[in-house]
Amino acid sequence: DAKRKGKNQIGFFKKDIEQDTIRKLKLRSELEQAVSNKEFIIYYQPYVDKDKNIVGMEALMRWKKGNKILLPSEFIEELEEGQYIVDAEDLIIDNVLDDISELGLSFPVSVNLSIKSLFRKDLAQRLISKLTQRKAKSKINIDISHNILNIEIIERSFLENFEYVRNLIENLRKFNVFFSIDDFGTGYSSLSYLSKLKVNFVKIDISFVRNLSDKDTKNVTNAIIALSKSLNIKTIAEGVETVEQFETLKSMGCDYYQGFLFYKPMPKSELLKVLNS
Ligand code: C2E
Ligand code: MG
Ligand code: MG
Ligand code: MG
Repeated sequence: DAKRKGKNQIGFFKKDIEQDTIRKLKLRSELEQAVSNKEFIIYYQPYVDKDKNIVGMEALMRWKKGNKILLPSEFIEELEEGQYIVDAEDLIIDNVLDDISELGLSFPVSVNLSIKSLFRKDLAQRLISKLTQRKAKSKINIDISHNILNIEIIERSFLENFEYVRNLIENLRKFNVFFSIDDFGTGYSSLSYLSKLKVNFVKIDISFVRNLSDKDTKNVTNAIIALSKSLNIKTIAEGVETVEQFETLKSMGCDYYQGFLFYKPMPKSELLKVLNS
């Protein structure tokens, strides 16, 4: 009886794996289509200063699949497995630059760059030419001496090749591109890296913000803010959902705040209303 049961179980797992493989293959071919049809769109999430003024925003990728809007958690891993992520992020950057000139934005807009995009050999050249072309074309005179593009990188990327990332940052800084370290504190990198990379922002990961009532978490968060301040790096807290979190972070001297307490990610049409109100 036990033998029979075991066999059934193996059969069950096998079916599971098969279905998972089929699902992935389907998703992959749909993503291939999505890239060529440019089905990736941007939701914008503003972040604010301690007085709740909007001081910047983040461009977050969404997949407009028919009449559904899919979150990155539903597709980004698959997209990153192929080369498609590079094309999708290229599209996001172009659309962000279009939106900046169309809306006449004067604050930086962040884009999240995957490791694949970050390490493409021609990234700096492409970005510089995009920025210079915009400047020439733009009616509202987007000045590349204004820091309008902010690149969010994850800690894992500079563990992969520290020298490359350090050089990229130094190079693009000359063109007034900002850099942020995303999800800070979740990787295994030493804090000493921070002093060796000339980034402009550190984004304190949501996992810290959620657990500020825990004494150790609070101490670490305090240390991240203090260290950043001493290095002249601005801190942005991610995922601020409650007034209590906001107050605690303010008392620690955090510079900026991003989260549902202030704004949720929204399509451009909604952002327009927010900016005009
Ligand atoms: P992230 O870069 O850390 O972006 C912040 C995420 O936190 C966003 O999720 C945002 O909607 C969510 N968030 C903001 N405020 C709150 C809050 O108060 N509470 C909670 N619970 N969540 C909040 P989203 O848009 O689903 O994106 C998830 C992740 O997908 C991003 O995390 C980023 O790692 C990745 N992603 C998004 N767009 C891109 C992209 O263009 N390229 C790459 N490589 N990754 C992207
Ligand atoms: Mg981000
Ligand atoms: Mg983040
Ligand atoms: Mg995050």
